[in-house]
Amino acid sequence: MRFAVGAMLFEGNTFSPVLMDRADFAAKYLHEGDEVLTRLAGTGTEIGGAIAEAARHGDELVPLIATHGGAGGRVRRAFTATLIELLINRIIDLGTIDGIYIALHGAFVSEDDVDVDGSLLRRLRALLPNTPLVVSCDLHAHITPDMIANCDALIGYKHYPHDDTFETGAKAMTLLRDIAIGILKPVLASCRIPLLAPAQHQRTRGDGPMVEVRALAESLAIGAVRDVSYFCVQPWIDAPGIGFTAVVTAHDDARRASDAARDVATAMWERRARFLVATHSARDAFRQARGANGLVVLVDAADCVGGGASGDSAAVLAALLTEAPDASAAIHLADPIGVAEAEAIGVGKRGHFAIGNRRDPSYGAPLQVEAEIVKLFDGHFVYSGGLMRGVSAAMGRSAVLRVGAIDLLLTSNACYEYADEAFLASGIDARSKRFIVVKNPMNYQQAYREAAASYVLETPGPTTPKLDLLSWCHAPRELFPVSDKAALRYEQFVSARR
Ligand SMILES: [Zn+2]
Repeated sequence: MRFAVGAMLFEGNTFSPVLMDRADFAAKYLHEGDEVLTRLAGTGTEIGGAIAEAARHGDELVPLIATHGGAGGRVRRAFTATLIELLINRIIDLGTIDGIYIALHGAFVSEDDVDVDGSLLRRLRALLPNTPLVVSCDLHAHITPDMIANCDALIGYKHYPHDDTFETGAKAMTLLRDIAIGILKPVLASCRIPLLAPAQHQRTRGDGPMVEVRALAESLAIGAVRDVSYFCVQPWIDAPGIGFTAVVTAHDDARRASDAARDVATAMWERRARFLVATHSARDAFRQARGANGLVVLVDAADCVGGGASGDSAAVLAALLTEAPDASAAIHLADPIGVAEAEAIGVGKRGHFAIGNRRDPSYGAPLQVEAEIVKLFDGHFVYSGGLMRGVSAAMGRSAVLRVGAIDLLLTSNACYEYADEAFLASGIDARSKRFIVVKNPMNYQQAYREAAASYVLETPGPTTPKLDLLSWCHAPRELFPVSDKAALRYEQFVSARR
């Protein structure tokens, strides 16, 4: 059989001022045509999984485009249009195919569209109304009616941290093949509830509320129910209809699909209070840290690059210099201007720097420090795991500065991290420090398991776990935990075309 495959992933954040363009996508991956297959075969990406599954059956894959822009605020209008045209033009030239698989994040936000994924799928469906179309999304997708109505099956990653992108791509291909040969007559059912869950307690392994929701979803995925997915949503998209959504793909059974979606949504609602996050002022965190024997992780979750923030907040660096000036620490910021200044001064010399706080006005003015330049290098690494496993990332020109006892890594590009790739690439021995500053809500929990303590700090930024602090305009009014009037309400939708 002959299937077309493509990927167009980006995680938007409408509270972030960071505008994304071609270079931001190219810094992760941006492949066209045959490159999609040659560059992504053997990686842990969805396309890597699709390639392996197609090979198992001897099916031919026709590559479209594949790109992952990571996360940011919105993508520039012109570049969004370019990506869609590249993908659509290849589809027009395809000839006869048996189906299409598209990997999306499901939260692609451009300057003028908060549902680029839905708009793309609507165009694909209009172009090839009778061709099976299967879509996969990140667990943090914002699932919209346009997405459900314009594909035959829609599945998500089952794990967070995301380490099953390969398996997701393989499963999408299995479903696509079954639809194409006629043994799966897909019914797609979704159930949305007015709930946003901060990411900190969404781990799907070990214990916690999301482990229980995952187990329920798994138990419901039997017989005619081919997939039960749960989309927690990237909780920083101020759009109508935002909320946790369960999506079920079943064979010819709308009732079972709808019931399963509703059961998963209900389970999530019942656990909602357990997703809330305890945060600490910097002063409180440093006071408590005195009782911790060993490595302490300071979590600047509000400036999470993987959630769309700029990654250049100097808030925790300022707190370290004020509250624990003699303690050793490792911290990483995106700061191309600081890197350029360090290059102008040279290794082994000292200089005055204005650090960070440039891309997001809510962070205030850059922080003035005096520092020694320890190292200059061209930063890149290959992801050791997760949704980018095997893919290389470009940090760009980078510098290690020493500010008192603090090792400060400055990189030109802000990079999402699966574990501790940036510190490793810089040569900073972060684990030998008293404090490590991380800028993510989840991945540090597995990267620094040995830490004696960790504190989620009350810092400014568009990826704060305190969702009630953000200014919501377009989201539903009574949304947990933003409104204290939030109440359970199901919005269910069923789509069956074949
Ligand atoms: Zn995600």
